[in-house]
Amino acid sequence: MKHVKTQPGAAVSVLGAARSGLAVARLLERKGYRVFVSEAAPQTQKRAAWQQLRELRIEAEFGAHTARVLQADFLVVSPGISPELPLLKEARRRGLPAYGELEVASWFCPGPLIAVTGTNGKSTTTAWLGEMFQQAGRKHVVAGNIGRPLADCVLAIDVETTAVLEVSSYQLQLTDTFRPGIAVLLNVTPDHLERHGTLQHYAQTKLKLCRNQSPDDFVVFNAVDPLLAGRLATPEVRARRVPFHSERPLSPGCGVQKGRLVFRHESGTVELVEVSRLALPGRHNLENALAAAAAALLAGLPESAVRQALTHFSGLEHRLEFVRELDGVRYVNDSKATNLDALLAALNSFQQPVVLIAGGQDKGDDVRRIAHTVAARVKQLVLFGESAPRFEADFSNVVPCRIVRDLAEAVHAAHASARAGDVVLLSPGCASFDQFRDFEARGRRFKQLVHQLRSKP
Ligand code: ADP
Repeated sequence: MKHVKTQPGAAVSVLGAARSGLAVARLLERKGYRVFVSEAAPQTQKRAAWQQLRELRIEAEFGAHTARVLQADFLVVSPGISPELPLLKEARRRGLPAYGELEVASWFCPGPLIAVTGTNGKSTTTAWLGEMFQQAGRKHVVAGNIGRPLADCVLAIDVETTAVLEVSSYQLQLTDTFRPGIAVLLNVTPDHLERHGTLQHYAQTKLKLCRNQSPDDFVVFNAVDPLLAGRLATPEVRARRVPFHSERPLSPGCGVQKGRLVFRHESGTVELVEVSRLALPGRHNLENALAAAAAALLAGLPESAVRQALTHFSGLEHRLEFVRELDGVRYVNDSKATNLDALLAALNSFQQPVVLIAGGQDKGDDVRRIAHTVAARVKQLVLFGESAPRFEADFSNVVPCRIVRDLAEAVHAAHASARAGDVVLLSPGCASFDQFRDFEARGRRFKQLVHQLRSKP
């Protein structure tokens, strides 16, 4: 084992009986810890979790986090729970360590770790990197924020299996010894500031990814991201720096020369593929490709596998996902764009005029900073959800705006105003929770509505 912080037999309280909480409870129970699970939702809403814990004979409480939680040697806290919870404050006062599932799972992970973080592009880059491992036929698991908790995988993997992990900033807040051999930092732009406070503090949390790295490790990062590049140039960052750049070559680093992706490192120069042959469109996906290729080559994957995955990758659902073409209009689902920088990246991916459907739960970010791109790319803006009035106030002088009640009306309004050669793009730039369970539900509803559209007479 790498650095198990606590001994088997120790008492642990797991807060939150959702997917990652249950996974870590199962893992620790198997490893001989005395596990207690505490879930704020009542048992009636968490039947499956309750049942599972009962079968495993893991002690649990539902309906509230009580003081019983504090009878432990350490806590494992779900990233969804606010650190401001009074019980967590009390735990801190008593000096009880609180970790996240990722931290704990990493104690038991025998093989190499590659971790990807950033404000946008984490899932795409993680999955793309997974595809490179797949093409190379190298043993790996893709886990973390992207879906399957690492705690669910560690018992089944060996020293030769690489864990390719998507890591969110909430997960990073709850790490301590977590140390990836290769850390990938994509970008840091405003998001989740309601939880992290200032942008500086948010950036600091993202940089925790490389805090425990040593000179044997690598950190791959975006050379032009102002918040990242400066902060990584300090002596506290001990890993070898491998920047990427979407416009020029770098040495060392992964960049672009004469329209082709090129990786330069101690071991030499690797010419990859032409930018025009990348499987996914847009400059942001070029950045994701550069980051994934750099990490894959540093991990020792063969160039042929990296090339193959760069040109053959289907992308992920809800990220610039092509839905259908009707009457010469292309419909694209980018429901995962839950902040303005993702929306900006989407708009910059199209040459065609865009009928944009945007809006949802307002994050309070200053939308005027994207007005220039909206004016240049969007021919009609259809707004729905809580943020619609504010967006209209800020955009109506640069583009025709129409406010509608919900997504169904939005799709019909977009269909009515689109002409052959246009793109109808759902890229909300907002969270979905005002009208949907999550961004997946919003994207699925959009696709359903688009498939129901009929040709215009
Ligand atoms: P994450 O997992 O970080 O949310 P995703 O890969 O799921 O990232 O993409 C989220 C959204 O951000 C999508 O709408 C996508 O089009 C956009 N996006 C993807 N990569 C980038 C990037 N490197 N920079 C900016 N936006 C991006």
